[in-house]
Amino acid sequence: MTELRCPLCGSQDVATTERVAEYNAPMGPSVPYRFVENECKACGEAGDFLAVNDANIVEARKQSSVSMVGDVLERLLRLGRSNAYVERALALPSRTLARWKAGECSAAGSTLLRLVATYPWLVEVADHRYEAGFAKRALVGAAAEVLTRNLEQHSVVYDATVTNAGPEMNIHIQLKQQQPHKNPRALGAGTTRAAGPFHDVQVVVGERMLG
Ligand SMILES: [Zn+2]
Repeated sequence: MTELRCPLCGSQDVATTERVAEYNAPMGPSVPYRFVENECKACGEAGDFLAVNDANIVEARKQSSVSMVGDVLERLLRLGRSNAYVERALALPSRTLARWKAGECSAAGSTLLRLVATYPWLVEVADHRYEAGFAKRALVGAAAEVLTRNLEQHSVVYDATVTNAGPEMNIHIQLKQQQPHKNPRALGAGTTRAAGPFHDVQVVVGERMLG
C-alpha cells in the first residue's frame, strides 16, 4: 500500500477526513460515494494525496448512469415504445438497448436516451426518416399536449381543437376566463372558481409559424 505522505513537504503527519458525497448523472439517481480529504499538519497542504476519490467518482457516475438507462427504457416502454421499435427507428443494431441496460452504454448513447426521454416523439420523427413535415406536426402536437396538460393542472377551462390537414395543422385553444362568483358563500366552498363565459381567448398555434 502506498505510504500516506504530504506531496509538498514529505511529512507523514497527515490527517485524513472522510465524508459521504453524492453523484448524480443527468436524469440519474444520486449515488453516494466515499470522499477523502487529507491535510498535512506540517505545512497545511490539503487534498486527496493518494488520489482515491477519482475512482470512487467514476464508479458512482457509472452506477447512476446505468440506473438512468434502465429508468429511461422503462419510461419509453410505458409510453408504448418497445426496445425493438426504438432500435429500428433510431437505426441501432438489435439488442443494443439490452446491452446499454446491462451497463455498456457510451456517453453518446446516454445522451441519446436522455433526448428521447425528454422528447419521446423524437422516436416517431426518426421512424418517419426525419421527414420535415412530419417533424413539424410532431412538434406542434407535442406542444399542444404540454399546453393542454398545463391548463388542466391549473384548472383553466378550455376547449381545444386540433385540425390536422396535411401541412395546415393548427391548434385552436379557447380559454374561458374564470371569475369569482359574486356571492361565493351562497354556492359553498370550491365554487368561486366556476368558469364564466366572460371572455374567450383564442390561441392559435400553426405549423406555418414554425417556418
Ligand atoms: Zn506538508
